Amino acid sequence: MSYVDTHNHQAGWSVDASIPLQELVKEARDLGLLGVTLTDHYDYNGEADNDWCLDVDAYIEHMKDKRQADLNDLLILTGIELGYTPEHKAHMVEVSLRPEFDHTILSLHFHRGIDPYYDPDGVVKGYENHKRFTSTLINDIADSAIAVPKANTIGHYDFFSRYLPWQKSKFNYVDAPDAFDRLFSIMIENGQSLELNAGTIHRLVGKSYSLEEALPDEMVLRRYKELGGHLITIASDAHRSGKLAELTSHLLAQVNALGLTPCYFKEQKPYDMSHSRL
Ligand SMILES: [Zn+2]
Ligand SMILES: [Zn+2]
Repeated sequence: MSYVDTHNHQAGWSVDASIPLQELVKEARDLGLLGVTLTDHYDYNGEADNDWCLDVDAYIEHMKDKRQADLNDLLILTGIELGYTPEHKAHMVEVSLRPEFDHTILSLHFHRGIDPYYDPDGVVKGYENHKRFTSTLINDIADSAIAVPKANTIGHYDFFSRYLPWQKSKFNYVDAPDAFDRLFSIMIENGQSLELNAGTIHRLVGKSYSLEEALPDEMVLRRYKELGGHLITIASDAHRSGKLAELTSHLLAQVNALGLTPCYFKEQKPYDMSHSRL
């Protein structure tokens, strides 16, 4: 598959990952990918030495010699997944500006301090319905995009939909049109890409959606394009063996059919899959 997989984790640098970099790279070559971006976790909680927060200098040193200059070989890019919390936005901005990164992804993993993976009921407490929750979450993501405007990508906008306690938990445009429009306007202004993350598809299929239903809502993508968005990053968000490029062919097909541009970031600039600068 001819694309750069832009969001992946490696053992030793993300506490929830078990695949060593060497193995991930071998998988990428075997699959015929153009490249792979490592985006290990940086979930800062005020203390840099928590388990979910890598040591930036050590990580940059570790990744330093990995990128290949030869475009006929696999691109190995150095990224980071910044877990946003409003309390630490100044710190997030600082890390996002480190020039050594090829690609910075801004992600929201908590709502009101609650991780939906561990407490799906707690995270929706007080919300009347799915629409209200979706709208709040998408607005929270829009706030993060304003706070860290130089982050290259908004990671998995639909992360929370994976874990919500209700049966039908997908994030659809129709549930929060104003919030999506606000988010997309900010992202487009900032030059940020919209990430489509196969991890969500995987989870939604596990929650009784068919594969087709579990793909990102087409209205979301159409509206992003209508408002002037074109940059899309495709991510398997692999954490272990055998996950790289899983389900991403469906995302690529969807994106290409809509005339959006799958891209990757190198030195924090977007490129298409022919390695042309966008
Ligand atoms: Zn994430
Ligand atoms: Zn991730």
